[in-house]
Amino acid sequence: MKLYNPSELKKVIEMHGFSFSKSLGQNFLIDGNVLNRIVEGSGVDGESCALEIGPGAGVLTRELANTAKSVVAVEIDKSLMPLLEFTLGEFDNVKIVNEDVLKVDLKELISENFGEAPVHVVANLPYYITTPIIMKFLEDEIPVKSLTVMVQKEVADRMAALPGGKDYGALSAAVQFYTVPKIIAKAEPHCFMPQPKVASVVIRLEVQEKPTVVVKDKDRMFAIIKSAFGQRRKTLLNALSKSPYINIGKDSIQKALEELGLDVNIRGEKLSLEQFARLSDLL
Ligand code: SAM
Repeated sequence: MKLYNPSELKKVIEMHGFSFSKSLGQNFLIDGNVLNRIVEGSGVDGESCALEIGPGAGVLTRELANTAKSVVAVEIDKSLMPLLEFTLGEFDNVKIVNEDVLKVDLKELISENFGEAPVHVVANLPYYITTPIIMKFLEDEIPVKSLTVMVQKEVADRMAALPGGKDYGALSAAVQFYTVPKIIAKAEPHCFMPQPKVASVVIRLEVQEKPTVVVKDKDRMFAIIKSAFGQRRKTLLNALSKSPYINIGKDSIQKALEELGLDVNIRGEKLSLEQFARLSDLL
């Protein structure tokens, strides 16, 4: 069964009387090239496991099942269950969990299903929950090797952005604190059924064993980063001294900037993650 073939997918969908839900972001992949890139790029192999979020009709799940040791796929939509049974029934290494991923205890799910094996997350989700779910994996230190996710192009650009550019912001810093991001594919609207309005990008976030910079108090550093980018038109000195997230006097901030050899009129978007870490340690 080549489920990514549009006529085959249509047949299966019609056979099960399934209708697409816009609010659940149901756009299913129908492009073999993008599928291959996701599976290859995800790093899944015979020794590792895949945690798929939002399997839809199982297009990507089938490819993951052919490659991974085992696959667990979390799908919120109950009406997709019979369809998934049909498309994945031939695999004995796939388990479907009918839950909202935001409500699942992910640590428990991973240890119960995968034990000590390395786990790669693969997700093509509605855009509004993709960033929260990525941050949940990273901030809660859920033990996974990588996250390969389909996101809007603008979001991928922000995640991978370097200091100084317009895309660099709090999301870039947070993602790059925990992972090394790499864009692995582009998916135009015609790669999906039904077609979404905007183009997507597949980004792979390789989770680092240790954060990419050393900092004494990461929560404080992220409060500083949030303050710096909350008012990005202001100088860093003004943004930090007027921030609702931290309470540090202007003099102390100015002293710290000088100690780090930074111009007192610098804007937050010019600072690297390493410089934010040093600033945080000083404040
Ligand atoms: N992975 C499939 C593919 O590429 O063809 C389907 C992708 S579709 C963009 C997103 C899927 O995520 C849908 O099947 C939708 O029902 C599911 N989904 C949406 N919100 C979810 C949630 N909170 N938890 C789990 N699955 C969710």
